[in-house]
Amino acid sequence: MSHSLTEKAKYNFNKLQKRLRRHTGQAIADFNMIEEGDRIMVCMSGGKDSYTMLDILQNLQRSAPIKFELIAVNLDQKQPGFPEHILPEYFQSLGIEYKIVEEDTYKIVTDIIPEGKTTCSLCSRLRRGILYRTATEIGATKIALGHHRDDIVETLFLNMFYGGKLKSMPAKLASDDGQHMVIRPLAYCKEADIAAYAEHQKFPIIPCNLCGSQENLQRKNIKMMLQEWNKSHPGRIETIFTAIQNVTPSHLADLSLFDFANLQKTDVPLGEGDIALDKPDVPAIPVGLEQESTTQAIAIELN
Ligand code: SF4
Repeated sequence: MSHSLTEKAKYNFNKLQKRLRRHTGQAIADFNMIEEGDRIMVCMSGGKDSYTMLDILQNLQRSAPIKFELIAVNLDQKQPGFPEHILPEYFQSLGIEYKIVEEDTYKIVTDIIPEGKTTCSLCSRLRRGILYRTATEIGATKIALGHHRDDIVETLFLNMFYGGKLKSMPAKLASDDGQHMVIRPLAYCKEADIAAYAEHQKFPIIPCNLCGSQENLQRKNIKMMLQEWNKSHPGRIETIFTAIQNVTPSHLADLSLFDFANLQKTDVPLGEGDIALDKPDVPAIPVGLEQESTTQAIAIELN
Protein backbone atom coordinates (compact mmCIF):
# COMPACT_ATOMS: atom_id res chain seq x y z
CA MET A 1 0.00 0.00 0.00
CA SER A 2 2.67 2.49 1.09
CA HIS A 3 4.72 1.32 -1.89
CA SER A 4 1.94 2.26 -4.33
CA LEU A 5 1.46 5.59 -2.53
CA THR A 6 5.14 6.41 -3.02
CA GLU A 7 4.87 5.40 -6.66
CA LYS A 8 1.84 7.64 -7.07
CA ALA A 9 3.58 10.57 -5.36
CA LYS A 10 6.57 10.08 -7.64
CA TYR A 11 4.32 9.96 -10.70
CA ASN A 12 2.53 13.16 -9.61
CA PHE A 13 5.82 14.93 -8.97
CA ASN A 14 7.15 13.93 -12.39
CA LYS A 15 3.98 15.29 -13.97
CA LEU A 16 4.31 18.54 -12.02
CA GLN A 17 7.96 18.96 -12.98
CA LYS A 18 7.20 18.22 -16.62
CA ARG A 19 4.38 20.78 -16.61
CA LEU A 20 6.62 23.48 -15.12
CA ARG A 21 9.35 22.65 -17.62
CA ARG A 22 6.89 22.69 -20.49
CA HIS A 23 5.32 26.01 -19.50
CA THR A 24 8.71 27.62 -18.90
CA GLY A 25 10.11 26.27 -22.16
CA GLN A 26 7.03 27.52 -24.02
CA ALA A 27 7.29 31.05 -22.57
CA ILE A 28 11.02 31.14 -23.38
CA ALA A 29 10.30 30.09 -26.97
CA ASP A 30 7.26 32.35 -27.49
CA PHE A 31 9.06 35.48 -26.30
CA ASN A 32 12.51 34.48 -27.53
CA MET A 33 13.74 35.01 -23.98
CA ILE A 34 16.99 33.07 -24.22
CA GLU A 35 19.46 33.07 -27.09
CA GLU A 36 22.72 31.27 -27.84
CA GLY A 37 25.52 32.53 -25.61
CA ASP A 38 23.26 34.41 -23.16
CA ARG A 39 24.56 34.99 -19.67
CA ILE A 40 21.47 35.11 -17.51
CA MET A 41 21.40 36.77 -14.15
CA VAL A 42 18.83 34.83 -12.12
CA CYS A 43 17.48 37.10 -9.38
CA MET A 44 17.12 35.12 -6.17
CA SER A 45 15.09 36.51 -3.29
CA GLY A 46 14.99 33.21 -1.42
CA GLY A 47 11.24 32.85 -1.99
CA LYS A 48 9.53 29.83 -3.59
CA ASP A 49 9.28 31.47 -7.02
CA SER A 50 12.96 32.30 -7.39
CA TYR A 51 14.11 28.85 -6.21
CA THR A 52 11.73 27.19 -8.67
CA MET A 53 12.90 29.46 -11.50
CA LEU A 54 16.55 28.60 -10.91
CA ASP A 55 15.81 24.90 -10.60
CA ILE A 56 13.74 24.73 -13.80
CA LEU A 57 16.21 26.90 -15.75
CA GLN A 58 19.06 24.59 -14.71
CA ASN A 59 16.93 21.65 -15.72
CA LEU A 60 16.25 23.16 -19.15
CA GLN A 61 19.89 24.20 -19.54
CA ARG A 62 20.93 20.54 -19.42
CA SER A 63 18.74 19.56 -22.36
CA ALA A 64 18.57 22.81 -24.37
CA PRO A 65 19.92 22.75 -27.92
CA ILE A 66 21.60 26.12 -27.24
CA LYS A 67 24.30 27.07 -24.76
CA PHE A 68 23.64 29.69 -22.12
CA GLU A 69 25.03 30.49 -18.67
CA LEU A 70 23.21 31.05 -15.40
CA ILE A 71 24.50 33.19 -12.58
CA ALA A 72 22.44 33.41 -9.41
CA VAL A 73 22.35 36.85 -7.77
CA ASN A 74 20.94 37.73 -4.40
CA LEU A 75 20.64 41.23 -3.07
CA ASP A 76 21.13 41.25 0.68
CA GLN A 77 19.19 44.36 1.66
CA LYS A 78 20.31 44.11 5.28
CA GLN A 79 16.87 43.51 6.65
CA PRO A 80 16.97 42.56 10.32
CA GLY A 81 17.15 38.81 10.76
CA PHE A 82 18.06 38.06 7.12
CA PRO A 83 19.69 34.61 7.26
CA GLU A 84 22.65 35.49 5.04
CA HIS A 85 24.20 32.01 4.99
CA ILE A 86 21.23 30.22 3.42
CA LEU A 87 21.54 31.26 -0.21
CA PRO A 88 25.37 31.00 -0.50
CA GLU A 89 25.19 27.51 1.00
CA TYR A 90 22.43 26.55 -1.39
CA PHE A 91 24.31 27.87 -4.44
CA GLN A 92 27.47 26.07 -3.33
CA SER A 93 25.54 22.84 -2.97
CA LEU A 94 24.42 23.25 -6.60
CA GLY A 95 27.92 24.19 -7.73
CA ILE A 96 26.50 27.18 -9.59
CA GLU A 97 28.18 30.56 -10.19
CA TYR A 98 26.67 33.17 -7.86
CA LYS A 99 27.07 36.64 -6.44
CA ILE A 100 25.69 38.16 -3.25
CA VAL A 101 25.33 41.94 -3.42
CA GLU A 102 25.21 43.64 -0.05
CA GLU A 103 23.49 47.03 0.07
CA ASP A 104 21.78 48.47 3.12
CA THR A 105 18.62 49.64 1.38
CA TYR A 106 16.73 48.80 4.56
CA LYS A 107 18.40 51.70 6.35
CA ILE A 108 17.88 54.10 3.47
CA VAL A 109 14.20 53.22 3.24
CA THR A 110 13.51 53.34 6.98
CA ASP A 111 15.40 56.67 7.28
CA ILE A 112 13.38 58.29 4.51
CA ILE A 113 9.89 56.82 4.82
CA PRO A 114 7.89 57.73 7.95
CA GLU A 115 6.89 54.78 10.11
CA GLY A 116 3.62 53.12 9.16
CA LYS A 117 3.84 54.26 5.52
CA THR A 118 4.42 51.71 2.83
CA THR A 119 8.05 51.38 1.85
CA CYS A 120 7.75 49.11 -1.16
CA SER A 121 7.90 51.65 -3.97
CA LEU A 122 11.18 53.27 -2.81
CA CYS A 123 12.62 49.89 -1.82
CA SER A 124 11.87 48.31 -5.17
CA ARG A 125 13.20 51.34 -7.07
CA LEU A 126 16.48 51.10 -5.17
CA ARG A 127 16.59 47.37 -5.73
CA ARG A 128 16.00 47.77 -9.46
CA GLY A 129 18.91 50.22 -9.75
CA ILE A 130 21.24 47.87 -7.88
CA LEU A 131 20.20 44.87 -9.97
CA TYR A 132 20.78 46.76 -13.23
CA ARG A 133 24.20 47.90 -12.03
CA THR A 134 25.06 44.35 -10.98
CA ALA A 135 23.96 42.97 -14.36
CA THR A 136 26.40 45.33 -16.05
CA GLU A 137 29.20 44.41 -13.63
CA ILE A 138 28.84 40.68 -14.18
CA GLY A 139 28.29 41.00 -17.93
CA ALA A 140 24.77 39.58 -17.85
CA THR A 141 22.86 39.75 -21.13
CA LYS A 142 19.46 39.05 -19.53
CA ILE A 143 17.94 39.54 -16.09
CA ALA A 144 15.49 36.80 -15.07
CA LEU A 145 12.74 37.49 -12.51
CA GLY A 146 10.53 34.85 -10.91
CA HIS A 147 7.06 36.34 -11.49
CA HIS A 148 4.44 33.81 -12.56
CA ARG A 149 1.08 33.72 -14.29
CA ASP A 150 -0.91 34.61 -11.15
CA ASP A 151 1.34 37.67 -10.54
CA ILE A 152 0.61 38.75 -14.11
CA VAL A 153 -3.16 38.39 -13.72
CA GLU A 154 -3.10 40.17 -10.34
CA THR A 155 -1.14 43.04 -11.85
CA LEU A 156 -3.67 43.30 -14.66
CA PHE A 157 -6.49 43.89 -12.16
CA LEU A 158 -4.38 46.17 -9.96
CA ASN A 159 -3.72 48.38 -12.97
CA MET A 160 -7.35 48.26 -14.04
CA PHE A 161 -8.97 48.85 -10.67
CA TYR A 162 -6.51 51.34 -9.23
CA GLY A 163 -4.62 52.75 -12.20
CA GLY A 164 -7.41 52.89 -14.80
CA LYS A 165 -5.16 51.12 -17.30
CA LEU A 166 -5.46 47.90 -19.22
CA LYS A 167 -1.94 46.63 -18.73
CA SER A 168 -0.14 43.93 -16.84
CA MET A 169 3.42 42.79 -16.29
CA PRO A 170 5.44 41.99 -19.42
CA ALA A 171 7.06 38.60 -19.86
CA LYS A 172 9.95 40.38 -21.58
CA LEU A 173 10.91 44.02 -21.43
CA ALA A 174 13.77 46.33 -22.23
CA SER A 175 14.73 48.58 -19.30
CA ASP A 176 13.98 52.31 -19.56
CA ASP A 177 17.59 53.17 -20.33
CA GLY A 178 17.61 50.50 -23.05
CA GLN A 179 20.64 48.81 -21.49
CA HIS A 180 19.03 45.69 -20.06
CA MET A 181 16.62 42.96 -21.05
CA VAL A 182 14.35 41.64 -18.30
CA ILE A 183 12.68 38.24 -18.76
CA ARG A 184 10.07 36.34 -16.73
CA PRO A 185 10.51 32.67 -17.65
CA LEU A 186 7.73 31.52 -15.25
CA ALA A 187 5.15 33.74 -16.97
CA TYR A 188 3.03 30.70 -18.00
CA CYS A 189 3.40 28.82 -14.70
CA LYS A 190 0.63 28.64 -12.11
CA GLU A 191 1.47 29.78 -8.60
CA ALA A 192 -0.09 26.60 -7.15
CA ASP A 193 2.27 24.44 -9.24
CA ILE A 194 5.26 26.49 -8.09
CA ALA A 195 4.19 26.23 -4.44
CA ALA A 196 3.77 22.45 -4.71
CA TYR A 197 7.13 22.10 -6.46
CA ALA A 198 8.94 24.24 -3.88
CA GLU A 199 7.43 22.18 -1.09
CA HIS A 200 8.43 18.91 -2.67
CA GLN A 201 11.98 20.10 -3.38
CA LYS A 202 12.27 21.39 0.21
CA PHE A 203 13.88 24.63 -0.90
CA PRO A 204 15.32 26.56 2.07
CA ILE A 205 12.76 29.37 1.84
CA ILE A 206 13.62 32.73 3.41
CA PRO A 207 10.57 34.47 4.88
CA CYS A 208 9.47 37.55 2.95
CA ASN A 209 8.27 39.68 5.87
CA LEU A 210 11.68 40.59 7.30
CA CYS A 211 11.48 44.21 6.21
CA GLY A 212 8.38 44.70 8.39
CA SER A 213 6.58 46.55 5.59
CA GLN A 214 2.80 46.47 5.61
CA GLU A 215 1.50 44.00 3.12
CA ASN A 216 0.21 45.69 -0.01
CA LEU A 217 -3.49 45.72 0.83
CA GLN A 218 -4.65 46.35 -2.71
CA ARG A 219 -2.73 43.38 -4.09
CA LYS A 220 -4.02 41.23 -1.25
CA ASN A 221 -7.61 42.19 -2.07
CA ILE A 222 -7.13 41.39 -5.74
CA LYS A 223 -5.58 38.05 -4.86
CA MET A 224 -8.56 37.21 -2.65
CA MET A 225 -10.99 38.26 -5.38
CA LEU A 226 -9.27 36.04 -7.94
CA GLN A 227 -9.16 33.10 -5.56
CA GLU A 228 -12.89 33.44 -4.90
CA TRP A 229 -13.58 33.54 -8.63
CA ASN A 230 -11.41 30.54 -9.21
CA LYS A 231 -13.25 28.63 -6.51
CA SER A 232 -16.69 29.36 -7.93
CA HIS A 233 -15.52 29.09 -11.56
CA PRO A 234 -12.48 26.78 -11.73
CA GLY A 235 -10.12 27.79 -14.51
CA ARG A 236 -11.07 31.46 -14.50
CA ILE A 237 -7.51 32.73 -13.88
CA GLU A 238 -6.37 30.59 -16.78
CA THR A 239 -9.03 32.09 -19.04
CA ILE A 240 -8.09 35.65 -18.03
CA PHE A 241 -4.48 34.86 -18.87
CA THR A 242 -5.57 33.47 -22.25
CA ALA A 243 -7.49 36.73 -22.80
CA ILE A 244 -4.39 38.88 -22.42
CA GLN A 245 -2.83 36.81 -25.19
CA ASN A 246 -5.82 37.54 -27.47
CA VAL A 247 -6.23 41.30 -27.62
CA THR A 248 -8.43 43.02 -30.21
CA PRO A 249 -7.64 46.76 -30.20
CA SER A 250 -10.48 47.52 -32.66
CA HIS A 251 -12.94 46.26 -30.02
CA LEU A 252 -11.56 48.37 -27.22
CA ALA A 253 -11.52 52.14 -27.02
CA ASP A 254 -7.88 53.23 -27.03
CA LEU A 255 -7.65 55.84 -29.77
CA SER A 256 -3.88 55.50 -29.91
CA LEU A 257 -4.06 51.77 -30.66
CA PHE A 258 -6.75 51.83 -33.30
CA ASP A 259 -7.47 54.63 -35.74
CA PHE A 260 -11.24 54.81 -35.26
CA ALA A 261 -11.36 58.37 -36.66
CA ASN A 262 -10.13 57.29 -40.09
CA LEU A 263 -12.01 54.01 -40.21
CA GLN A 264 -13.55 53.61 -43.69
CA LYS A 265 -16.08 51.31 -45.26
CA THR A 266 -14.30 48.64 -47.26
CA ASP A 267 -17.03 48.22 -49.92
CA VAL A 268 -16.23 44.49 -49.99
CA PRO A 269 -17.85 41.87 -47.78
CA LEU A 270 -15.81 40.74 -44.82
CA GLY A 271 -14.62 37.14 -44.79
CA GLU A 272 -16.58 36.36 -41.64
CA GLY A 273 -19.83 37.76 -43.05
CA ASP A 274 -21.80 40.58 -41.47
CA ILE A 275 -21.25 40.30 -37.74
CA ALA A 276 -21.18 44.00 -36.91
CA LEU A 277 -24.53 44.13 -35.16
CA ASP A 278 -24.54 40.61 -33.76
CA LYS A 279 -24.25 39.97 -30.07
CA PRO A 280 -20.72 38.84 -29.15
CA ASP A 281 -20.31 35.13 -29.56
CA VAL A 282 -19.50 33.87 -26.08
CA PRO A 283 -18.60 30.18 -25.92
CA ALA A 284 -20.38 28.06 -23.30
CA ILE A 285 -17.05 26.71 -22.06
CA PRO A 286 -14.29 29.27 -21.48
CA VAL A 287 -11.61 29.34 -24.16
CA GLY A 288 -8.60 27.22 -23.26
CA LEU A 289 -10.57 25.02 -20.87
CA GLU A 290 -12.51 23.01 -23.46
CA GLN A 291 -10.16 20.07 -23.34
CA GLU A 292 -10.25 19.85 -19.56
CA SER A 293 -14.03 20.13 -19.51
CA THR A 294 -14.40 17.42 -22.15
CA THR A 295 -12.17 15.15 -20.09
CA GLN A 296 -14.26 15.95 -17.01
CA ALA A 297 -17.47 15.29 -18.94
CA ILE A 298 -16.13 11.94 -20.12
CA ALA A 299 -15.10 11.10 -16.56
CA ILE A 300 -18.58 11.97 -15.31
CA GLU A 301 -20.15 9.85 -18.03
CA LEU A 302 -17.93 6.92 -17.18
CA ASN A 303 -18.87 7.19 -13.53
S1 SF4 B 1 8.04 44.05 1.01
FE1 SF4 B 1 9.86 44.96 2.01
S2 SF4 B 1 11.60 44.17 0.85
FE2 SF4 B 1 9.78 43.86 -0.42
S3 SF4 B 1 9.62 45.68 -1.69
FE3 SF4 B 1 8.39 46.08 0.11
S4 SF4 B 1 9.76 47.12 1.52
FE4 SF4 B 1 11.05 46.15 -0.02
